[in-house]
Amino acid sequence: MNRNTRGSIIRPDPLPESASRPVVTPLSPSVVYASETPDALDDQYEGRVHGYTYSREGHPNADVVAKRLDAMEGATGGWVTGSGMAAVTAALLGLLKADDHVIGGNQLYGRSLRMMKEDLPRLGIATSLADPGDVKAMAAQIRPETRMILVEVVSNPTLRVADISGLAELCRDKGILLAVDNTFTTPRAFRPFDHGADIVIHSITKLLAGHSDVMLGYVVARDAALNERMRVFSITTGMTPSPFDCWLAERGMLSFELRFDRAQATAVALADHLSELPGVKRVIYPTRADHPDRNRAETLLAGQGCNMVSFELDGGRAAANAFTRAAEGLSFAPTLGDVGTTLSHPASSSHRALSVDERAALGMSEGFFRVSVGLEDPEQLKQIFSTAIGEAVSK
Ligand SMILES: *Cc1c(COP(=O)(O)O)cnc(C)c1O
Repeated sequence: MNRNTRGSIIRPDPLPESASRPVVTPLSPSVVYASETPDALDDQYEGRVHGYTYSREGHPNADVVAKRLDAMEGATGGWVTGSGMAAVTAALLGLLKADDHVIGGNQLYGRSLRMMKEDLPRLGIATSLADPGDVKAMAAQIRPETRMILVEVVSNPTLRVADISGLAELCRDKGILLAVDNTFTTPRAFRPFDHGADIVIHSITKLLAGHSDVMLGYVVARDAALNERMRVFSITTGMTPSPFDCWLAERGMLSFELRFDRAQATAVALADHLSELPGVKRVIYPTRADHPDRNRAETLLAGQGCNMVSFELDGGRAAANAFTRAAEGLSFAPTLGDVGTTLSHPASSSHRALSVDERAALGMSEGFFRVSVGLEDPEQLKQIFSTAIGEAVSK
């Protein structure tokens, strides 16, 4: 019976019954969930039965993504947020308070760095930055009120590998939380909880969802009480992910491991190829013999280098312009982890706020590029780089 035709009852009857089940997760855009009775609602709020009430507080599509990531990270109770930065915010503001102190890696993602330098100090949370590859330098920043160290495993765009084991030991000794943003490495190459981290953060936007059409984050703590604080904070502050984004992310994650392995294998080949091209000054890839953290990549990442390759062209900005113009089919775009290969030029984008000298100190010249390797045919990709770099350096 279609009650809508009577005009007074707006909402349709439930979906038709089916003895068979859909193989694809249904999309549930409903903001509200209706309960049978006040008693039934009590049962839900008191945790005696599971149910949804209002989608800011959780919804099925977010839970499906969270459970999938929990399994990948060896975690329980992880929480999906509306962006990777929301996840970073949930960890920092959900767990810290005024007069606390937090230490960040000195090459954190740009917005995380900005949070360290601008927003946390404004809220009365003191911050310091140090090299996450140097445990002594990190230890030197610790104060009595230090509560957390936040690092990424592989730095952007210089691809240095943090000493996560050393930092975990330091944090354990001092009773400090170690939060690891695992976006670049993904659980395919690195599981922070296996190496002593307390909190894991992801931008699902990148490799996990993988198609540059979804913005989402994930955060989880090993300790259930900390997890609950981050969850409640993210609900209160409205970090809610959209059901549709979660639905898309789940679809992307179904092929994540295949995509990661393929992109990583191509990245290894591309790094070797670039190192042989005239006009390329240097190539950075964590497992290459000339990488300063090669041993750490071997032990921490099990010999994996992930899908990012950085390199430096001769010829400064003019060569950089000529290269992106000639790199046919590759997007010059500030993201990573897409199915297609993307190029990033830190001097004009992610690191433009730094002075030339500050960039030079990090080893980033005008000819410096970071490549997020995608799923193209490796031979075709090598050819595109050969041609574009040949044109760029002949100018
Ligand atoms: C992109 C990124 C973020 C932020 O994620 P969004 O989904 O863009 O908000 C945080 N950390 C790292 C390492 C990233 O690459």
